[in-house]
Amino acid sequence: MTDINFYGGVDEIGGNKILVKDNNSSLFLDFGMSFSIANKYFSEFLQPRKANGILDFTEFGLLPKVKGIYREDYLNHCGLTSDSEPSVDGVLISHAHMDHSAYIHHLREDIPIYITSESYLILKTLEDTGSTSFGEMLNLKKSFNLTPKKNVKKGPENRRSKGAECIVERDIRVIEPYKEFNVGESKVKSVPVDHSLPGATAFLVDTGDEAIVYTGDLRFHGRRREFTEKFVKEAKKFNPTTVISEGTRINKVNNVGEESIERTATKLVSNIKGLAIVSFPVRDLDRFLTFYNVAKNTDRVMAVSLKQAYMLNLFDGVGYPRVDEVAVYIPRKDWGMMGDECLACLEGNWLPSSKLHSYHTEQDYKNWERKFLNWDNSITYRDLREDPKDYIFGCDFFELKELIDIKPENGIYLYSKTEPFNEEMEFDFHKVRNWIDHFNLPLITEGMHGSGHANGVELLNMIREISPEKVYPVHTENKEKFNVLNDDGVKVVYPELSKK
Ligand SMILES: [Zn+2]
Repeated sequence: MTDINFYGGVDEIGGNKILVKDNNSSLFLDFGMSFSIANKYFSEFLQPRKANGILDFTEFGLLPKVKGIYREDYLNHCGLTSDSEPSVDGVLISHAHMDHSAYIHHLREDIPIYITSESYLILKTLEDTGSTSFGEMLNLKKSFNLTPKKNVKKGPENRRSKGAECIVERDIRVIEPYKEFNVGESKVKSVPVDHSLPGATAFLVDTGDEAIVYTGDLRFHGRRREFTEKFVKEAKKFNPTTVISEGTRINKVNNVGEESIERTATKLVSNIKGLAIVSFPVRDLDRFLTFYNVAKNTDRVMAVSLKQAYMLNLFDGVGYPRVDEVAVYIPRKDWGMMGDECLACLEGNWLPSSKLHSYHTEQDYKNWERKFLNWDNSITYRDLREDPKDYIFGCDFFELKELIDIKPENGIYLYSKTEPFNEEMEFDFHKVRNWIDHFNLPLITEGMHGSGHANGVELLNMIREISPEKVYPVHTENKEKFNVLNDDGVKVVYPELSKK
């Protein structure tokens, strides 16, 4: 008998943590963060305490109280005992959005994490370039480890010491599309789907007595729609008893495709003489590609952030432009030397000038950023100020301050992101508007964003076509919209938030 326990994604968009369990094996489908609960109790400067291990998270139901899944260093530090063996056989990650993957951080390092190669590269980018406290997705730094440096045990070969920290690699298993693998006694197949970032996958899970299709997040109107179409065929062939389906946009009927955004943006950008500025999510390489194309269509060069450059470098031209096909924008940091004449160099100061200059500039940047400093196609605010009509500048929320240096005139600001849907986002969006107004730029949202999710008509047709015995709507605030499927012989079962 197979049990399905929902620890998130119930009556909310995101936070998916679904435990599929039978007598012989158990696995999690995703292990993501619930934005709605996290935003309810926490904010940028009111964060869960690391010192309290998982307890600040379990307090509000952000993490489920499941035994045998959490990392030993956290459990021990907050006075809980850890089990010798993990209680689950693996965690299947559908894609690298935080509401599906963020809480991997809290898991034991010996639980196998199954992800696609693209998801791996995205998580690697976030881990290598991020500075958040709970971002240990691929490598785990043993916290509260007081072992002095020279005595750090050289344990199994996946352990290595770095300073006083002991870094342990997680058991990451990169999966291939359409290739079956075992998790415990269950047979699993990853079937790629299209979503608003590379590497999204659905899973077909055969536990022996249940055949479960988990959609992850998907859409039929992106650049790789044929993936999702093929998924529907594969899922139908699988003859599932159960579909666990996302329903983010079950109440919507429209779609905006990348091609349409490209056309609209090309028209807008061709009509301006100044800098075109665009804000889109760094993980969404398809959206990046859209604006890369807009830049080409309008004889401009796409200028990306260091983080975006790092990600493109990891993808190495597979499916997306290479990092040397874009300009890399280097922001000024503490010393602020980049893009400025170094006064010490000009005045021939007491240190050999070039040495001082490179010392000042290098010192400002993190290791992962340094390789782009002397890149042929690196640019600074000066390039954007002097030749604004040559560029489209990818400028996210935290990069807005660059506009003070760039001083854009006769430009345009394209907001290519989901519209704000909660108070925090409203608040940030309000700030964006203030900045953009301050610089007298028109702010365009209309036609600039297409969702990562299929609409209601597409979702219902998809489930009718797959034709399972029952469907659980998750990742939605409108589960009742699935009810029409009861007339087609598909039993709609509302998932309940599991407490045990
Ligand atoms: Zn997603």
